[in-house]
Amino acid sequence: MPRSNRRLGLDKRGETAVRNWSGHVEFTSERFESPSSVTALQALVSGSTTIRALGTAHSFNALADTTGVHVSVADLPGSLEIDSAKGLAWVPAGMRYGEAARLLDAQGWAVHNMASLGHISVAGTIATGTHGSGDRNPTLSASVAGLEMVTAAGDLLTITHDDPSFAGCVVALGALGVTTRVLLRVEPTFGIRQYVIDDVDHESLLAGFDDVFSSAYSVSFFTCWTPELTGKIWMKRREGRDAPLTDAQLAGEPWLGGHLATAKRHPLPEHDAMHCTEQQGALLPWHEALPHFKLDFTPSSGDELQTEYLVPRERAPGLLRDLEALAPRIHPLLHVSEIRTMCADELWLSGAYGRDTVGIHFTWKKVPEVLGLLPEIDALLGPAGGRPHWGKLYESDPAALASRYPRFDDFAGLVATFDPTGKFRNQTLDLLLGSRNVHHDHR
Ligand SMILES: Cc1cc2nc3c(=O)[nH]c(=O)nc-3n(C[C@H](O)[C@H](O)[C@H](O)COP(=O)(O)OP(=O)(O)OC[C@H]3O[C@@H](n4cnc5c(N)ncnc54)[C@H](O)[C@@H]3O)c2cc1C
Repeated sequence: MPRSNRRLGLDKRGETAVRNWSGHVEFTSERFESPSSVTALQALVSGSTTIRALGTAHSFNALADTTGVHVSVADLPGSLEIDSAKGLAWVPAGMRYGEAARLLDAQGWAVHNMASLGHISVAGTIATGTHGSGDRNPTLSASVAGLEMVTAAGDLLTITHDDPSFAGCVVALGALGVTTRVLLRVEPTFGIRQYVIDDVDHESLLAGFDDVFSSAYSVSFFTCWTPELTGKIWMKRREGRDAPLTDAQLAGEPWLGGHLATAKRHPLPEHDAMHCTEQQGALLPWHEALPHFKLDFTPSSGDELQTEYLVPRERAPGLLRDLEALAPRIHPLLHVSEIRTMCADELWLSGAYGRDTVGIHFTWKKVPEVLGLLPEIDALLGPAGGRPHWGKLYESDPAALASRYPRFDDFAGLVATFDPTGKFRNQTLDLLLGSRNVHHDHR
């Protein structure tokens, strides 16, 4: 069975990708193709009027949708190619990030970070600025040093970090071409020990924000916005870089406003932690501890929605305090919120472009009332420079959204050059680019 069929919600004939992972976005594509050679992909792209790359369909909005052909690169041949001397690895774009991580680790290599779930395609991950956490860790897109893509004309183009337009080509929302391979910066493999700190109240978090998030290689704060306003710190300590825990910390004495958890935890309270990656200080390879969930546990669909705003780091404590006013309305609709940090990068459409950033994330219950709250969240976080995650749900004015990216007009220029007839465009891109007067009538 082709790899793409196993991963996507395809119709019975395997001809149309029907829905996204969460199931609430019904795709409008006329057909689904998954070529098994780059030559076939080139012919498909050059011969199509409207076409759009689909990764593993994990986005929560219609960003990946098209009215034309949906194309997956999951069935293209290819394997990892590591250049040890340069610390670079070519990775097939359709591979799941977690699979690529396993293969890298098997050869003694690592990438600097991972998202919470390893099931997402490499191309989709980098096209939307997907990130993990860590004060000194940039987004996953920022570890890209080169891309190979099929352009609108059907040419196979390799573009690397020394090209002046490269910074606009990585977080590119599928607007510039169909990525076939990604060149990742890699480093020698490393170990992670994961710990959870229970019962941390928001006051302690906000008062000691920098202490909490600098306390380990990667730190997340989970909260449900309950009336008590307490949460958990999820800490991933890098072996050889972060200090071992002290006897007092291990004994459960007060630490960062809480105390060490005595059992394995799930980010959602009351949920079985079976599918979570190991905690309580077990030493694990990086790719088994940086994601929150095990790769072997493959949810084929999700009973949740997600929203996330990437806000300037210095504004984050104040914005989190402002959000407390919405807590009574957020809490009933929420599974859990996660707060993460990332350092600035230079990618034009990255949520962390040009500034250290904090991700304020909401995993919602799959209920329509969530949509009613999105404009209020946008009104609170947007004017403060909050950039909604491209792959999650948001309700923002497209012109206001574009204005939060200082290089947006340069990106619009790239789109006009790379895709003069608008074959990769869809409604989401039309609204965004239309707000900057880059119009196309491609239907
Ligand atoms: C359970 C879950 C957990 C998540 N955890 C995180 C997290 O920890 N951190 C985070 O930042 N985000 C997270 N996300 C969001 C997710 O990383 C993004 O939505 C990501 O873009 C999904 O990748 P995908 O392969 O499913 O892409 P799709 O949703 O299929 O597509 C997304 C975009 O990528 C483009 N694209 C896909 N393939 C190609 C290609 N070959 N060439 C060019 N463009 C392409 C599409 O055209 C589209 O614009 C999570 C999502 C889910 C469902």
